[in-house]
Amino acid sequence: MRSTRIDGVSVLWTEAPPPLEVALIFGCGVRDETFRTLGVTHLVEHLAMSTLPRLHHDHNACVDLRTTDFLASGRPEQIVVFLEAVCRALADLPLDRLEREAGVLAAEASEPEHPTIGALLSRRYGVAGPGLAPWRGPGADRITPQAVQEHVRRHFHADNAVLILSGPPPEGLTLPLPRGDRPRRVSGGPSVLAAVPAWSQECVPDVGLGLHSDRHDDVALALAVDVLRERLVRKARHEQGLSYEVALDRCRVGGGQSERVLRVDARGGEERRVAELLWNEAQRLAADGPAAAELAEEVAAAKEVFSDPRHAMADLLRLAEAELFGESALDPQEWLRVADSVTPGQARDAFASAMDTALLAVPDGAEPRLSLPDGSPLPVGGCVRSDQLPRGKVFRPSPLQRLFSAGARRSLLVLGDDAVAMRDPDGDVHAIRFDEIVGVEAHGQGRVLFGRGGCVIPVLSDLFSKTAPLVQQIDQVVPGELRYPVSAYWTDDD
Ligand SMILES: [Zn+2]
Repeated sequence: MRSTRIDGVSVLWTEAPPPLEVALIFGCGVRDETFRTLGVTHLVEHLAMSTLPRLHHDHNACVDLRTTDFLASGRPEQIVVFLEAVCRALADLPLDRLEREAGVLAAEASEPEHPTIGALLSRRYGVAGPGLAPWRGPGADRITPQAVQEHVRRHFHADNAVLILSGPPPEGLTLPLPRGDRPRRVSGGPSVLAAVPAWSQECVPDVGLGLHSDRHDDVALALAVDVLRERLVRKARHEQGLSYEVALDRCRVGGGQSERVLRVDARGGEERRVAELLWNEAQRLAADGPAAAELAEEVAAAKEVFSDPRHAMADLLRLAEAELFGESALDPQEWLRVADSVTPGQARDAFASAMDTALLAVPDGAEPRLSLPDGSPLPVGGCVRSDQLPRGKVFRPSPLQRLFSAGARRSLLVLGDDAVAMRDPDGDVHAIRFDEIVGVEAHGQGRVLFGRGGCVIPVLSDLFSKTAPLVQQIDQVVPGELRYPVSAYWTDDD
């Protein structure tokens, strides 16, 4: 690996055969947004890419939780043109195209993570930072030009970027970006909302198990989770024919924290069995640990991956992220050296302590029976944290709605001193403190409240009657910048 600096941007490269592959990586992703500005990074990326002329070589851009990457491969002179054009666009964004690109974004409707991973991150972190992943937010047409400019100024500059290349930087390469200060991040990473085992029904396609770790380089845990994946492939797919895909992802979320997510899809109607299988296999691994042969198998697989020449760019990416976020990362040799020395007992202990943070997401409607090691039921998680309604002024559905619907007879809203609460048609109580409100969407005279803990409370006239005093109170206590009219892109089906 070689390194240099061009126009203030840190540049890393390796010597691989052509074509030249490059990635200009900015330390800015969805976790740097808020509910109110959700999508702003993606909008910046689209605005920049919209300025490029037609190019005949591979190029692309993407936004994930932590970074925005501009990627290309081609001949050196093509790469020079691409990178200079991207930098010039970022330095002077075509804000006159904002409305059009917002429309493109609404049509694309991409998510930075798989929905199952997003749901687990949002349960872990609430509706902030990495927990924003599954949320749609106010919509791209509700992002102001000022929010776009502020976001670019803070994040898209030479001092928050790293360029990686599969060969030496081409002759004449310039990266004309403004200079800036690397954004300061809370040390220790985002604050965790849910840290103890729970399960919840979510609007997700697959069953998912999320395990939290404060050490992203926990090799013993990494190997144990690999073993669990292999066991599930064998049981869920090969033996029981319940699943096709068993996927393992690791999301680094900042401050050394990571969320490892094992996703298992389920043949229609088998969601409950898949959830029980995943949970029980995880419990068994936490109790008994892996066999030595299983660990050796996973170390051998990792060696194979690291020795593939195509891994060189992945290795540069790891170094780029380490530089952008100030996180140390084991290099492949160190990783393998540690992995070789991990014992089954160490893997078991690492996995058992990660299971103390386990969150299980199951598709809506599935009712698995799950228990903790002491035999007690696995608690239900999600946004509902209490069945107690606060004291305050009560609002109900209209008498006619209550006459015809049992759900309407159960539903009510309460305006308390410092919170709004709702009992939903199922009888669950959702509550949002005023200081936890992350967005208020205006639907004519109605309002939809979004809370940091994941609760959504619709103060809408087709659900509740005579809510004018409640709406007035909300508009008074919630800062103007968090209130916005509903996106023109949403249809009633949304
Ligand atoms: Zn709720």
